Amino acid sequence: MPGISRRTLLTAGAATAAVAVGGTLTAPAARAAAPTLPNGISKDKVLAVGMDGLRHDRIGAAKAPALKSLMANGTYGTSLLYANPMAATSSGPGWSTVSTGVWPDKHGVKDNTFAGKNYARYPGFLARLKQVRPGLSLFAAVDWPELDTHGTVTPGADAKLVYNNDYAVNDKLITEQTEDVLRNQNPDALFVYFGQTDEIGHNNGATSRKYLDAIDVQDGYLGRLLAAIKARPTYGTERWTVIVTTDHGHTDGGGHGGSSIEERRTFVLAQGPGIAAGVRPADTRPVDVAATVFHQLGIVPEASWGLDGRPIQQRSTDPFDSLRSSLSPRVDETGIPADVLGFTHTAPSGWSVVNDSMGTGGVTEWRGWSFTTDEFWSRTQPEQYRELNVRARGVFAVADSDEWADKSFSGRYDSTLVTPAYDVGGRAAVTLAFTTLYRHEGGQTAEILASFDGGTPAVAKSYTSDVISRPQSVTVDVPAGASSVNFRFRYTGSNDWYWVIDGVEIR
Ligand SMILES: [Zn+2]
Repeated sequence: MPGISRRTLLTAGAATAAVAVGGTLTAPAARAAAPTLPNGISKDKVLAVGMDGLRHDRIGAAKAPALKSLMANGTYGTSLLYANPMAATSSGPGWSTVSTGVWPDKHGVKDNTFAGKNYARYPGFLARLKQVRPGLSLFAAVDWPELDTHGTVTPGADAKLVYNNDYAVNDKLITEQTEDVLRNQNPDALFVYFGQTDEIGHNNGATSRKYLDAIDVQDGYLGRLLAAIKARPTYGTERWTVIVTTDHGHTDGGGHGGSSIEERRTFVLAQGPGIAAGVRPADTRPVDVAATVFHQLGIVPEASWGLDGRPIQQRSTDPFDSLRSSLSPRVDETGIPADVLGFTHTAPSGWSVVNDSMGTGGVTEWRGWSFTTDEFWSRTQPEQYRELNVRARGVFAVADSDEWADKSFSGRYDSTLVTPAYDVGGRAAVTLAFTTLYRHEGGQTAEILASFDGGTPAVAKSYTSDVISRPQSVTVDVPAGASSVNFRFRYTGSNDWYWVIDGVEIR
């Protein structure tokens, strides 16, 4: 690691010990020299910028010209994080999710102890890039040193800057040296981290003037990096992608780790070749950052990597997502803000919901299978595992007997979601694939039934224990001569839990 230098900080706010980076230790300097990178090999290039604890709904109130320019010229998707028990809304899990492109149930980091980390199986994207294309020139800069010491971000980098968490000083140092690298060297992929937004969020709250000022300071750093890219002599022949993301939100008063919507707020913002301008998709997730990096560099991830993300330009195409424009605001769920459009009982074209045996009354939104969003459904009641629905995207289907029972009702929850009829002519078997979040309780049932050519449905699979956000598949033999199949998801219960279905595909 040639030429790496850092400052030794003696200011009162510099709580952590000096961080060794394997390079030479230099005296404090007004401006440290940038490390030297190998010459890059790619015309496709990516700058990923992580802004810690940046609550996206505050950007609008800040000046933030660089972020707003990226939003206007790029794709900007907001979403909600998991919460415990999958992982806390904290930086260890958050940056692990961004860097590895998989959820905490794979990368293993549940809090800032990093206990259980599994970066050997799920490396950060710089480490993965170095494995698959060793000639790429890779750079990392962080001033939350845990991202280096635990191996979250920096492994794979040909050169790295690692400073301590005196963000007011070190975010600027990182900017200056990264600017230097961008102007004067030839990096291919960079991951640059800024921490000040999180610190100001903790100290002053996310609704404070100081938080907006911190966004503007960081936006200024981002703007300098963007200008440095455009100033490259070879800029005209290069294809740059810039990605900005965060690891978690903040409460209004400041702080995170818990399950509130404000703490769970995240976003992915990207501008670059093939990424549409001014698009605001409702189906992005922070795991998409790594997948977007790979895609923009022309690298096709192998299935064995187990990525949960996908490139930001890919939209969900499952039938439930076609319902987004018909979602309604709350009726009985008065804890959900009236401006959050989030549910419908109208099934997608070709689908149906059978409520012939469904009880009466109850909470309107959840009487029988409903089509809803994370933003709406996970607001109904926190900390009942609804935040763990990480592998659903956009609009999904839910049968929730627990929420239905929160208003006077009679009878039992009993509702069946029926797929269209799929052609199976000449096939020996058919596979139904989907993603589920299933929370079990003794009194409920959850069955998948298959019906060929309109015949009597037969049980193909049933659930009797929790399945926490997993891809599923059910394969059934096609009877000789059968030409079509439809599947039924039947859920029954009485103030028990729920069943989520998303991403249904026939294979
Ligand atoms: Zn924090």
